[in-house]
Amino acid sequence: MKLCFATQNPNKIREISDKLNAISNNLELVDLQSVGCIEELAEDQLTFEGNAFQKADYVSKNHFANCFADDSGLEVEALNGEPGIYSARYAGDHKNYEDNIRLLLTKLQGKPNRNARFRTCLCLILNGKTHYFEGITEGKIIEQARGTGGFAYDCIFVPNGYDQTFAELDLASKNKISHRALALEKLVNFLKTV
Ligand code: IMP
Repeated sequence: MKLCFATQNPNKIREISDKLNAISNNLELVDLQSVGCIEELAEDQLTFEGNAFQKADYVSKNHFANCFADDSGLEVEALNGEPGIYSARYAGDHKNYEDNIRLLLTKLQGKPNRNARFRTCLCLILNGKTHYFEGITEGKIIEQARGTGGFAYDCIFVPNGYDQTFAELDLASKNKISHRALALEKLVNFLKTV
């Protein structure tokens, strides 16, 4: 089966492709460029679900019927769930990973509660029907960035049960426990039932 993955984020493509290779051999991912979608995808809804649907729905209607999109972000307990859906542009529309991290660490200064979670919502549109799959990884925000792998907030996030940040884990290890990988496992399991 061919499915278009409606994202322009190369980090997400890398993680999802690697995870798919590990868990499924009858699903072929098609990227946006190869279905002729070069325009930026709007995501101006107020929930992960809303944004994931908006991206998948647009691509499904305009480019490739069967597709899925990911909307994800970091939710920090002591900041009432910030940055949440604003994770990519927390420090501004220029979407700079370092500025976002600096802002987050500044806001957390002096706060003893470092609990946080990554959340992914995958929206799948298959044969005209919409399905949602969620993945969550709980962890803690550390005070100084560590590690060079991964992307964005990975270098300040230590998943529960681990000593390393997501950025210190290799791709296969992150893909065993990450929010995105867990949501994808649910999607693949669902596809086995249809
Ligand atoms: P989206 O493209 O609107 O889903 O924005 C996702 C944003 O959430 C990214 O730009 C990152 O800031 C953050 N994010 C989501 N998943 C991860 C992850 O696995 N590691 C680090 N940051 C992430």
